[in-house]
Amino acid sequence: MFLIAPLRSGSKGNASLIETAHTRILIDCGGIASEDIWENRLRIHPETLDAILVTHCHRDHLDDDGIDLANDYGIPLYIHRSTCAAAERRLEAMEKLPTRLIHHFGERGFKIGDLRITPFRLSHQGPWNAKIGKCFGFAIKSRVGSRNYCLGYLTDAGTLSEANMEALVGCHCLVLESNHDVRMERDSDRNPRHISWILSRDGHLSNDKAAEAVRYILDNQSEPLLRDVILVHLSKDCNTQAKALRAVSKATAESRGRKPRIYCAEQYDRLRFIRIDRG
Ligand SMILES: [Zn+2]
Ligand SMILES: [Zn+2]
Repeated sequence: MFLIAPLRSGSKGNASLIETAHTRILIDCGGIASEDIWENRLRIHPETLDAILVTHCHRDHLDDDGIDLANDYGIPLYIHRSTCAAAERRLEAMEKLPTRLIHHFGERGFKIGDLRITPFRLSHQGPWNAKIGKCFGFAIKSRVGSRNYCLGYLTDAGTLSEANMEALVGCHCLVLESNHDVRMERDSDRNPRHISWILSRDGHLSNDKAAEAVRYILDNQSEPLLRDVILVHLSKDCNTQAKALRAVSKATAESRGRKPRIYCAEQYDRLRFIRIDRG
């Protein structure tokens, strides 16, 4: 088996649980420290997590409570060196985290249990040029039976390079930021500087750019692999699920081949597990 469950998605926290028969990890740990999630809803113990893999150092992805969770249950934190340095400056809980729990990853592939993880750099920073280190997406592979399956994981990117999209071409399931509708963002009463950051290369991915990425993947897969697209990090003020779904569905309708199922993750997701190794 190879499963993903989005647990949190949006500006108040981001985290997903990834599971195979042998390995259980979290990607990001923003807003998931509550015992209610682990004891009552997931019914798994945090001690059984093999790792927390960190995309970048914004508090909605890595916060003090998440680091305390790693510390309390001895969960290794997989984090890029630059992200780790930023976390040490920004988050008090990092001081208490023993170095034996910190695993720096570089820009090459690495393994956690039976997951083979290839990181790739994303264009995302600031706002206000805050130093957060580098931001990463991941292509995560696991072998189930005689086949390899791939999960593409990409959240928080102002824009996507062709190399980013190439890294995702082989995926069966895609977690993809679809943050805002450009018009809603431009017309919002947010601070104008904040709006320019969101819309910049360092900001967040619009519905239209998410749609472009899905279209690229569908058009470039040599066989139809992509079955599920989970749209994440939707803005509460400047997007709606209907707009995000409409933009991405339009792109899949225009592409040739099989159409993937498209979902939107909720800020406080209802913990559905999506099977990556089906079919
Ligand atoms: Zn961010
Ligand atoms: Zn974020």
